[in-house]
Amino acid sequence: MDLSYEPLNLTLHDPFTIARGTQHIAETVQVMLTHEGITGRGEAAPYEHYGELPATVIAFLDALKPVLAREEQSIPISTLHTLMEDVARLNPAAKASIDIAAYDLLGKWLGAPIYQLLGLDPSDAPRTSFTIGIDTPEKMARKADEATQYPILKVKVGTPSDRENLLAVRQTRPDATIRVDANAAWTAKEAVARIQELTEFDLELVEQPVGDDDLEGLDYVRRSVSLPIIADESCVVPADVPRVAPYVDGINIKLMKCGGIYPAIQMIHLARGHHLSVMMGCMIESSVAITAAAHLSPLLDYADLDGHLLVEDDPFRGVRVDAGRLVLPDGPGLGLQIE
Ligand code: MG
Repeated sequence: MDLSYEPLNLTLHDPFTIARGTQHIAETVQVMLTHEGITGRGEAAPYEHYGELPATVIAFLDALKPVLAREEQSIPISTLHTLMEDVARLNPAAKASIDIAAYDLLGKWLGAPIYQLLGLDPSDAPRTSFTIGIDTPEKMARKADEATQYPILKVKVGTPSDRENLLAVRQTRPDATIRVDANAAWTAKEAVARIQELTEFDLELVEQPVGDDDLEGLDYVRRSVSLPIIADESCVVPADVPRVAPYVDGINIKLMKCGGIYPAIQMIHLARGHHLSVMMGCMIESSVAITAAAHLSPLLDYADLDGHLLVEDDPFRGVRVDAGRLVLPDGPGLGLQIE
């Protein structure tokens, strides 16, 4: 199997701010995996919070390339993950890029879209939220107004002006479903106070109110407020699912945290076994990685697959979003087209 890759920086429509900081561009690595004349595409969107940079993705792929070059026959995706684990532990975005390319390749090989390979009905997909980053109340209201085609908004919180921000968004969009994401900004006591202040805005759920490792805090918040609590930063890989399950109502799975479609499917089934609801989210990514996640969306309760909508120069076309509904392409593999 032949592997090639190159960095690609995506330009955002506007700077994107969450409790942890502001992002102006999205640094990705685009991957092509070729076997017997068929090429699958993948993408890594490394996120420093999980220990990755474009340079670490490239270093991982440099080490994997000769390993894959020795594989003359096609190999199962499970074997591919074993080979990647032997090259290095962790590196989830790098592994996700290969996993995504392998599923695209497999789908093209068999002439079927990925959702069909997985036995899923694309009409079961939930609507995706559209994310409003942290800004002034006026700008957040303007963003909410521009996003009227999306019935579900995810509003980033974790600042002293959350109340004003939510008020502005709710006044602009009285009928929208609004979920909030604090990106680990609060202590448990703060979280309870802040969430209680925000309940008048009729929220759907709260994502990651406390720090990544603060399971006690998640438990305390969940017992103190009536809204569902979803773990994102606290639930990264399959082994985290049983660990966080007693303390939350659901988990947010991302291909770039867990290492691709294969481990994401494991996480979804583990979550179901622990009676957790399941969200899939994303980093800021092109249509390659977003479309890969969207192929799993029929398995989800909540989708937050809007990363490509924040990008100005996405070179690909894949999943479309129509009034929040994820419309999967029916071409083989990911079903991508180059713009
Ligand atoms: Mg989140």
